[in-house]
Amino acid sequence: MTQHFDYICLGAGSGGIASANRAAMRGAKVLLIEAKQLGGTCVNVGCVPKKVMWYGAHIAEAMKLYAADYGFDVSIKHFDWNTLVQSREAYIDRIHGSYERGLASNKVTLVQGYGKFVDNHTIEVNGELYSADHILIATGGQPTIPEIPGAEYGIDSDGFFALRQQPKRVAVVGAGYIAVEIAGVLHALGSDTHLFVRKHAPLRNFDPMLYETLMEAMAADGPTLHTESIPKSITKNSDDSLTLSLENGEQYQVDCLIWAIGRHPNTANLGLEHTVVERDAHGYIITDGWQNTSAKGIYCVGDIMAGGVELTPVAVKAGRLLSERLFGAMPQAKMDYENIPTVVFSHPPIGTMGLSEPDAKARFGEDNVKVYTSSFTAMYTAVTSHRQPCKMKLVCVGPEQKVVGIHGIGFGMDEILQGFGVAIKMGATKADFDAVVAIHPTGGEEFVTMR
Ligand code: FAD
Ligand code: NAD
Repeated sequence: MTQHFDYICLGAGSGGIASANRAAMRGAKVLLIEAKQLGGTCVNVGCVPKKVMWYGAHIAEAMKLYAADYGFDVSIKHFDWNTLVQSREAYIDRIHGSYERGLASNKVTLVQGYGKFVDNHTIEVNGELYSADHILIATGGQPTIPEIPGAEYGIDSDGFFALRQQPKRVAVVGAGYIAVEIAGVLHALGSDTHLFVRKHAPLRNFDPMLYETLMEAMAADGPTLHTESIPKSITKNSDDSLTLSLENGEQYQVDCLIWAIGRHPNTANLGLEHTVVERDAHGYIITDGWQNTSAKGIYCVGDIMAGGVELTPVAVKAGRLLSERLFGAMPQAKMDYENIPTVVFSHPPIGTMGLSEPDAKARFGEDNVKVYTSSFTAMYTAVTSHRQPCKMKLVCVGPEQKVVGIHGIGFGMDEILQGFGVAIKMGATKADFDAVVAIHPTGGEEFVTMR
């Protein structure tokens, strides 16, 4: 017998949980289906474990790079990777518990299993059929592995979080968020870490000031960056080490190789052929800007959406707004995909929102763009022999100097950006920034004192 609901959410990651809870709060009878673990990528193999590792790296850097000049005589006898991993996993277990309690208090029915469409309104899980007037696809994505000989000897970001021993020598391949973040963490925790990028820089779609400063910091304190480095093959050696061979003939021997070359959507085995949901050439689901797919009553949010932004708060906001539109009193609720602030948890961290300087000049013309910058040494490091750069930039447009881009790299940037995001979203101009009294002494004050 088919059980009927008002709303089914397929996938209990960032988007699915947020949308399911909000729909239930608005009175809908909701079913949430999850194949693996509650919380999806972010909680289990993404933002959360990554940030814990990043904090671990912070502690290591404080002791190794900065403590001595602050007068502390610190010697690290031992770093136990497994203790960090156990603390991390215990924290994640507590998050699972809190999600379970939240769903239960909202009366969301949770089914464990892999869901597949049978038709436009019906999903099968573990041999049972469930139907709904409205179905959300929020099945996220998974890491991509390249098709080169020996690629299977490498692991991906999921494998990184599964490591129960710290690798001594590591190659991280990729130039995006994940590659930069994992390489930074491993290096700070003491692995001999090499980051291989195909072109001239990591994060090359970001404002040039950001990746140039990151490369400067990497050159000073590691990890070792290899640019113009295209992997050709991997071989496994008799001592279980791996040899990474590059197209340019160079070879590197490591104990662990991590692929961080991008992700692809989990849409291949969803039974979408039994629906009229359209996908693009890469498998991402096409929507109309209101999260509607080409099938009436089927929606999608998060990492599987074509042209989306693969960030947890984006999936969460889109999921909640969709539920407000379908079940709340907000028929016009619609996600705005413009001007989304984001942080790369690099060393030092990067915060960025809006247009880069080259993009702004391309869109508005060189003469209409005015750029303000600030460059200094982060005070936390200024009294030490490991002085770390901090650089900030405002990209302004037109005679009113509307701020269309805000970019920074440096100590604390991960926490600085959020508030400025509000100002940008409200359409702030340079004069609005200047009207604010600075908070001294901080890094953030530079954004309101630029000349
Ligand atoms: P997911 O969170 O991936 O959830 C999808 C869920 O659907 C999964 O639980 C999956 O098991 C389930 N599923 C799939 N198919 C089925 C099926 N057929 N039936 C039932 N269930 C199914 N974003 C940030 O904002 N900040 C960060 O710091 C950050 N760090 C990251 C670090 C890493 C290493 C990675 C990989 C990602 C990171 N992200 C970060 C991105 C963020 O995790 C994703 O954007 C977010 O999780 C997307 O949410 P989602 O709901 O679309 O999918
Ligand atoms: P990405 O798309 O950001 O970067 C992938 C990189 O790998 C690109 O620079 C690409 O040029 C390179 N690449 C592709 N194929 C390659 C190959 N064959 N060999 C070598 N390099 C290759 O992907 P990602 O780093 O996997 O991250 C996915 C998404 O997850 C991000 O775009 C981001 O939205 C999200 N994320 C966010 C955070 C955060 O908010 N701090 C952290 C991690 C991930």
